Amino acid sequence: MATGLADLVAGYHRFHDRYFVADHTLYEGLAQAGQSPLALVVGCCDSRVDPAILTDSRPGDLFVIRNVANLVPPCESGGLYHGTSAALEFGICDLGIPELIVLGHAQCGGIRALAEGVERPGSFISGWMQMAAPALSHARKAADGRPFRRACEQEAIRLSLDNLMTFPWIRERVERKMLTLHGWYFDLEAGELLRCDPQNGVFHAL
Ligand SMILES: [Zn+2]
Repeated sequence: MATGLADLVAGYHRFHDRYFVADHTLYEGLAQAGQSPLALVVGCCDSRVDPAILTDSRPGDLFVIRNVANLVPPCESGGLYHGTSAALEFGICDLGIPELIVLGHAQCGGIRALAEGVERPGSFISGWMQMAAPALSHARKAADGRPFRRACEQEAIRLSLDNLMTFPWIRERVERKMLTLHGWYFDLEAGELLRCDPQNGVFHAL
């Protein structure tokens, strides 16, 4: 449990020793050659689900986009501030990242707000989460024994995978086998990471 800013400063010094002193060549290489991440991850803002910690990754390994409930919007023209789409474009088109993971999780607050119908007029979260409304109806129709919230969280991952394919430069790379899409779900109570089977959409332990 964090006890304040002093913990973060102490953590920075440990990071500095680990990567700049003990493994200086890592950052030297990243600084000189630029980044070439192994995977792009769309994760949730939730502080308990850090993609780098969860995969024991090093600096430079992951290109991470985090937003409320790890949602990917459909490709849309117009509008001004498409932060997630802009980051996707940079990671896929400019960096050429070959693996893209949508990482959802149990106990997601954004999904809970959507599932419980929490409406706050004018709220940014309410507007953002409406994007995942189709996942809610899919979860209602699913009769596979999953608890409703878990079904919502997992259906939202599948919805984001579908939305990714609406971006022409993602679809093209997937079809040319230059890019692979993955849906992962972290059960933070069991400490278990599940993967969505692309054939049937069912989540299984990795
Ligand atoms: Zn979440």
